[in-house]
Amino acid sequence: MAKITRMPAPRKTSVPKKKAKAASAKPKPSAKKSASAKKSLKAPKPWAPAEVREVFSRFRAANPEPKGELEHVNPFTLLVAVVLSAQATDAGVNKATRALFEIADTPQKMLDLGEERLREYIKTIGLYRTKARNVIALSAKVLSDFGGEVPRTRAEIESLPGAGRKTANVVLNMAFGEHTMAVDTHVFRVGNRTGLAPGKTPLEVELGLEKVIPAEFMLHAHHWLILHGRYTCLARKPRCEVCLINDLCRWPGKTV
Ligand code: SF4
Repeated sequence: MAKITRMPAPRKTSVPKKKAKAASAKPKPSAKKSASAKKSLKAPKPWAPAEVREVFSRFRAANPEPKGELEHVNPFTLLVAVVLSAQATDAGVNKATRALFEIADTPQKMLDLGEERLREYIKTIGLYRTKARNVIALSAKVLSDFGGEVPRTRAEIESLPGAGRKTANVVLNMAFGEHTMAVDTHVFRVGNRTGLAPGKTPLEVELGLEKVIPAEFMLHAHHWLILHGRYTCLARKPRCEVCLINDLCRWPGKTV
């Protein structure tokens, strides 16, 4: 998955000092303007539960069974794929792992392959040396500490080399059906822009989303938001005109 990028800050309009002074000297004519400027700086109106439900009902109607785009054949290969996806695209990871998972789809087979040969398979992925080292180390730990099975708790997954909170959330959600919310660059942007879960860090956005999204949508919410960010609410040019939730979105920069 790509690294977190913050949404573009709204353009600042610089006010020449002289004009600013003049504006403060003549409060009456500028009063209306300044009131509307203040309004646009106000925090967006909070989402009502019915509006949040409406958003996810629309996502569900459009795509009832959203799927992640990282290819895998079992929880172990999902874990490896997520570890490899840090600061990389899913497509780039898939290209490398298709051949890899044909010969190494268990921790033991990964150890048998060895770090050097693993590097050859994943050398097209950024940071592949470190990632190869982590995948071998996590395979060893899954075997020694968890009987060869990917563990099912957040703390245990996060104890594996190369796996952090986002990895744990993806694995818990996709492999074990838990209601977790992995926040990547897309979810971070959508959470902030829409106003559904504003936050300065992925963790703030994660906790905010978990708080507002009804349980019935949580299994798929992560994928709906990723796909929405990847294909509609694009970082540079969001496609607001075709956005399913453009009437509800709180972003002042939306184009409709
Ligand atoms: S209206 Fe635009 S900014 Fe808002 S969620 Fe849709 S695409 Fe993103």
